[in-house]
Amino acid sequence: MANSENLIARRAGFQTALHAWYRAHHRKLPWRDTPSLYKTVVSEFMLQQTQVATVLPYFNRWLRELPDFVALAAAPETKVMKLWEGLGYYSRARNLHKLAQAYIAAPAKPRTPAEWRELPGIGPYTAAAITSISFGEPAAVVDGNVVRILARLVGEGRLFRDGTEAVKHFTPLADALVIGSNPGEHNQAMMELGATVCLRANPMCLVCPVAGFCAARAAGTPDKFPRLKPKVIEQKAVARVWCEHHGRLLLRLGHAKAKRLAGLHELPETSDLGIKPGAKSLLAVKRRTITRFAITESIYVVKPTAALLKRIARDAALEWVPLKQLDQVTLSGPHKRWIGDLLDGRG
Ligand code: SF4
Repeated sequence: MANSENLIARRAGFQTALHAWYRAHHRKLPWRDTPSLYKTVVSEFMLQQTQVATVLPYFNRWLRELPDFVALAAAPETKVMKLWEGLGYYSRARNLHKLAQAYIAAPAKPRTPAEWRELPGIGPYTAAAITSISFGEPAAVVDGNVVRILARLVGEGRLFRDGTEAVKHFTPLADALVIGSNPGEHNQAMMELGATVCLRANPMCLVCPVAGFCAARAAGTPDKFPRLKPKVIEQKAVARVWCEHHGRLLLRLGHAKAKRLAGLHELPETSDLGIKPGAKSLLAVKRRTITRFAITESIYVVKPTAALLKRIARDAALEWVPLKQLDQVTLSGPHKRWIGDLLDGRG
């Protein structure tokens, strides 16, 4: 607490050092070069849970195909999902699409964080980022990066249950540090500091513009902050089917109301077909992590018997997709990669 008050008392000097560094050293990014509200919104959606380097080609392609809110609002959902394919967390794409439609339809355009939070897919972080950058609203962004910086600056020793609790704890301090600054620049400077200098492992304190304000640095213990309870990772096993018939591959389409896989294709699970393949038919074992689950997916080759073909024909979610037209359906990121690898591997 004392350290927080001390930092707030030195706010003007902190902002001057941070902002001067940001102006001189920030990475040139397409949503920063010629900023617009639309570019800020798209980039903020894409950057959730995703690295800048991964986002860049998606962002550029998206802007070419869907250059503004009007184009996005009018686009068919299949096009939106296809442009997002491989970026993961597909609810972001669906929400961004709905947001554009709501934004175009709104008679009075949203401006404050509270108004933006009424729109699909907008939480406190995104609302603060969009409104501070586009309208100069004095709202601080607080995510894992900002929590890490603030916890180190003030040497916060409390053990947090999870990231959500830590974000809640640090939001008042983050808000206090925005006061009197250009809020958009301040938030972007904090994000940039977290992404390029105050790294999770081996923070670069020697080149940090706010090292003189940092309690953890003074104590020589940046690595000890923030203190978060370790996540419990659950192991899960899934058995998948690789079934081909007349040059077509069997895929399953996620239900429109499914939280994660709506509109996305994946290899079906053995339970979708009511079968238990033997170990001899194992084709590949793949692994992926989704939130707190470490998932092992075993893929089995299954022959399309007459009985199986009948069952498949009765299930509207199961689709035969010609191998040569796989790029015309939207696959989940890992399945796109795995299917590509398995097809490449057989030459
Ligand atoms: Fe992070 Fe080091 Fe800067 Fe402190 S001095 S804010 S630990 S990079």
